[in-house]
Amino acid sequence: MTKRRLVPLIFERSTPGRRGYRLPDLDVPEVPVTELIPSDMLREEPPALPEVSELEVMRHYTQLSRLNHGIDVGFYPLGSCTMKYNPRVHEDIASMPGFAAIHPYQPEETVQGALELMYNLSEHLAVIAGLDATTLQPAAGAHGELTGLMVMKAYHEQRGEGHRNEMIIPDSAHGTNPASCAMVGYKVVEVPSNERGGVDVEALKGLVGPNTAGLMLTNPNTLGLFDENICEIAELIHDAGGLLYYDGANANAIMGIARPGDMGFDIVHFNLHKTFSTPHGGGGPGAGPIVVCKELAQFLPGPVVAKEGDRYTFVTPENSIGRVRSFYGNFLVYARAYAYILSHGPKGLREVSETAVLHANYMASKLKDVYQLPYDRTCMHEFVLSGKWQKDKHGVRTLDIAKRLLDYGYHAPTVYFPMVVDEAIMIEPTETEPKSTLDEFIEIMRQIAEEAETNPEIVKSAPHTTPLRRLDESRAARQPILRWQKD
Ligand SMILES: *Cc1c(COP(=O)(O)O)cnc(C)c1O
Repeated sequence: MTKRRLVPLIFERSTPGRRGYRLPDLDVPEVPVTELIPSDMLREEPPALPEVSELEVMRHYTQLSRLNHGIDVGFYPLGSCTMKYNPRVHEDIASMPGFAAIHPYQPEETVQGALELMYNLSEHLAVIAGLDATTLQPAAGAHGELTGLMVMKAYHEQRGEGHRNEMIIPDSAHGTNPASCAMVGYKVVEVPSNERGGVDVEALKGLVGPNTAGLMLTNPNTLGLFDENICEIAELIHDAGGLLYYDGANANAIMGIARPGDMGFDIVHFNLHKTFSTPHGGGGPGAGPIVVCKELAQFLPGPVVAKEGDRYTFVTPENSIGRVRSFYGNFLVYARAYAYILSHGPKGLREVSETAVLHANYMASKLKDVYQLPYDRTCMHEFVLSGKWQKDKHGVRTLDIAKRLLDYGYHAPTVYFPMVVDEAIMIEPTETEPKSTLDEFIEIMRQIAEEAETNPEIVKSAPHTTPLRRLDESRAARQPILRWQKD
């Protein structure tokens, strides 16, 4: 007997001899396989693959997909991840043969359109960042951070200041920031947040010095708060000889409103798969381009696209740190991002940000009487509640609240991050949701707060309606079983 599963494994559906394909009769001379592959490299037995029909395969994957929650199924307010709706027209564009069927080894003259797209996208991102030169190569946000820090390191080394090895990072930072520092061999110096959720400038003054390589900051930060002291912070770092790195993974609050370059940042990365509308989750593909100021353009990874007359060509910057990605990066992600930027235009992008900020503030103001809002300020594209009241009064934890939301058909917000907030619940509604969705979610969040008071057990034992209940997430991550094993 096989174990009862939600969806039988495809191997368990196998029926000997069943096929999902039919090949035409061979109309060329048959060549014995031993002439093509050395006999010592041949299998002795055929692989134990499932033998299934096309319909069975289709049902199998459709059933699996129904166990997942996605933005196409319902609201997905996952703070710091910008799960916005990705217009389907971008998928049409990404699948155009001129984009999808080209090969990176093709001569430049035959892919001028693709190069033009990369060139224009680079320029647009530079305008949005308020900086000068772009590389599209990095494949993710964290990869952009690594690339940016390598550029920073090359800059200090060229100036004979290779000893600078300290990177200042706020305690509210995304975990990838310190991880990227470790990758380039920088020491992390943590700066605390002040009572308004921004960088504690007085503390920062005591931390900058001759070994400061730079500062990594997200602005608005992971609390969804804009750091009002950014100009003073930039001056402090620059005066000490350091550079400023902007983690722009979530640029949903600032497009067309504020530019990192104007705030004093020297390097920015964007997550095309968050702000610029590429489906994400499940590991990609994504793209984390970086944009840098003029002095740093010489260090960018090559090749980058340049325009010579009306021709586009690949060039490698003079003091390039080298490639960080095979070929030219995740090109079809660029196609989607480019379509997104062009279809909105400057005004439209500004409207995206204004709406994202409005939605977050609307929701925060409708929830802050029932959940603690530790930093009660006008927020940007997201806000962070605390489940502390529920924990202290009723023993209901943030994790319970997150699980209870699943019963109502929502993806849970980001929880227990940023670490500066006890029992954090980080909500990012995004601009793509209608007001009715926001209102329904507010209603359910309020209802859960009430349940925590009147029937805490129902929250603590949630979820009740999902195909599986509480999973052992750490074991799933540490001991994943990713292959079928015949029992
Ligand atoms: C998502 C995110 C990152 C990392 O981006 P990946 O593409 O997942 O590597 C970095 N910083 C912040 C603030 C983020 O939200």
